[in-house]
Amino acid sequence: MKPSHIEHIGIAVTNLEEAIKFYENVLGLTCYNIEEVADQKVKTAFFRVGETKIELLQSTDPAGPIGKFIEKKGEGIHHIAFMVEKIEEQLIHASNLGIALIDAKPRKGAEGLDIAFLHPKATSGVLIELCEKKEMPSK
Ligand code: ZN
Repeated sequence: MKPSHIEHIGIAVTNLEEAIKFYENVLGLTCYNIEEVADQKVKTAFFRVGETKIELLQSTDPAGPIGKFIEKKGEGIHHIAFMVEKIEEQLIHASNLGIALIDAKPRKGAEGLDIAFLHPKATSGVLIELCEKKEMPSK
């Protein structure tokens, strides 16, 4: 797949406002975007650290993926996202290698990225997200 870089690290938090304060006041980063992804039942906050971002995720629904994660494991690192090209081909490639996929086809994530998750049972317990920046259709 040869990802170009780690696009972001997703961190599950119970209180987005409190978590933002740590990244701003202690690490000195700036939250540049807060976005709700209804499909994923999360509210996200983003910080840039070089080419990589930190994505804080607060659940908006206990039955959603972050709600369930926090109930099982508590707060902490939820996933690591790699930036790739031709995400559809990468998913077929992974599937051909016997890697279980959560998303057989990419869907829309935060920040206009196309995203897809590999199943953690196939990746030594780490939830891995692939993402690709597609050009926005110009109006
Ligand atoms: Zn993510």
